[in-house]
Amino acid sequence: MVFRGLRSPLNPSDLSDTVQVQLDLRQPHTQSIGVRMQWTPTTQRQVWQLPVWTPGSYTVRDHVQHLHSLRLFAGSSERPIRRLGPSQWLVDLDQLEPLTLDYTVTARDLTVRTCYLDPDVAALCLAGLVMELDGCRWSSHALSVLAPEHWQVHVPLDRLGDGWSAADLDALIDSPVHAGRFSSTAFKVAGQDHELVLIDAPPSGWPEALQADVEAVCAATCRLMGTAPPAGDRYQLVIQLLERGYGGLEHDHSSVLHYSRTDLHNPDGYRKLLQLIGHEYLHQWNVRRLRPLEYRPYDYSRAVVSEGLWFAEGITSYYDLTFPLLAGRSDRRTLLKDLGDDLSRVLLTPGRQIQSLAASAREAWVKLYKATPASRDDQVSYYGLGAATAFCLDVRLRDAGSSLAIVLRALWQSHGVHGRGYGRGDLVGLIRTHNQELADALAEWLDDPDSLPLHETASMLGLDLVPSPSKDPHHGLTLSLEKGCIVVTRVEAGSPAQLAELVVGDELIAVEGLRLRRMEDLPGLLRHRETSRMTYARRGRLGETSVSPVSGVDHWQLSWDPGASVQQQELRDRWFEFL
Ligand SMILES: [Zn+2]
Repeated sequence: MVFRGLRSPLNPSDLSDTVQVQLDLRQPHTQSIGVRMQWTPTTQRQVWQLPVWTPGSYTVRDHVQHLHSLRLFAGSSERPIRRLGPSQWLVDLDQLEPLTLDYTVTARDLTVRTCYLDPDVAALCLAGLVMELDGCRWSSHALSVLAPEHWQVHVPLDRLGDGWSAADLDALIDSPVHAGRFSSTAFKVAGQDHELVLIDAPPSGWPEALQADVEAVCAATCRLMGTAPPAGDRYQLVIQLLERGYGGLEHDHSSVLHYSRTDLHNPDGYRKLLQLIGHEYLHQWNVRRLRPLEYRPYDYSRAVVSEGLWFAEGITSYYDLTFPLLAGRSDRRTLLKDLGDDLSRVLLTPGRQIQSLAASAREAWVKLYKATPASRDDQVSYYGLGAATAFCLDVRLRDAGSSLAIVLRALWQSHGVHGRGYGRGDLVGLIRTHNQELADALAEWLDDPDSLPLHETASMLGLDLVPSPSKDPHHGLTLSLEKGCIVVTRVEAGSPAQLAELVVGDELIAVEGLRLRRMEDLPGLLRHRETSRMTYARRGRLGETSVSPVSGVDHWQLSWDPGASVQQQELRDRWFEFL
């Protein structure tokens, strides 16, 4: 579908160095967006490309898969173009005249990192929409949005006439567009103007305390970093409720959160929303402006490996647990429960014995973002293991009279405020100034799988990491219902199921000769048996095997050690300050 006839005329003779970008959302029922870009090239061989990934989400998405009807015009005359690669094009020009590029993008992917449009809402991540024009990356870009009648458009950029102005392509791509019939409210953090955009209210309405809680969490984040929000007077927090979903994406001047409608009104769910808000807000410092050197600047055309992702996400994930407490909305016991849950996930991930933290970050592009249930056996998330590493660093730094917050603030002052990228050496060097031994230990924790001293660290605080035995016998199988069949999606390494030679992809047909049709029937069929005969189908052939369960661990929890010494309790009290 082409939108040429619908667009408001832009006169190419008006063009200066600014790249004009127009988004046409006026046929939302088609879920298609008309895009027009206009600029004057500086070279007769003009190349342009669509980003292949979205900053903050480290996997190649090939946004170009949603693009069609691309045409280039000089004045009213169409120019032949050549495709250099899946996401890259070229035109050879006789003269440097103003150009108009028109194309259409299908927007049906409702995530924080892609584009979505329907008759009620537009949620657009511009990495999937706007071309990088060679020679124009650092030119100013002007954005205009043609929206259906009565829609309001929210963009975290400075207004320019009827549209918005971005200092360069990076600033534009980093500015999500939300449009529809929803409104926003203003709030302040550290005296700076912020905007809260709420999309799709739940039937019982948004929690009354939400705005005050958001303000308190954002203020706590500023206290952690010891500065006012670096976004200044322009920050937009967008929360969109979905039937199911959880996700967030950070930007320089905004964050976009997707959250489950059903989780909003229970205490755990609401606290996790506050944690997510704090997580994305902290990214305003850590990863957006305090950025691994490999991402200064972003290369939108390819996957760029950086081990710094463990620091960007692990440190942020550690502190997001603390924000409800620091904001006065939770207590110490609840924090220990949340931290214990995170540490439990790490301890129950066999992949931590195979993949190091640094490797997990470097392999994000091909592993974490492509994970399956079976991935837990040979990989570990740099979010969870990174948060656990932050915990170990913080406790040991507290013990040495410092804190992780002090290190984070120092790195912010030495690199973040100056826009300098950081590497491992910068971080290790900073820690070395506080504790030589810890700097050496960090290198080991980063490079050696399963080297993190979690139990010892908990013990320093007078806490115990205690395993909870599983109620049911442990088989080591993870199953899912696929097209009416019960299919094995994970066989835990070393588990009874693996010893019985079941593999991922097997369909479970029966247990002890009894047909298995519903997942919920399985525990009843397995219970009270020392050995169960299982009938399965593999590549269309039936087979049988016997599985002998063992006792397992469901969960690890962090609990107070009643015999903790005064020294341990004092360190624990200092650690609970977090700032
Ligand atoms: Zn994050």
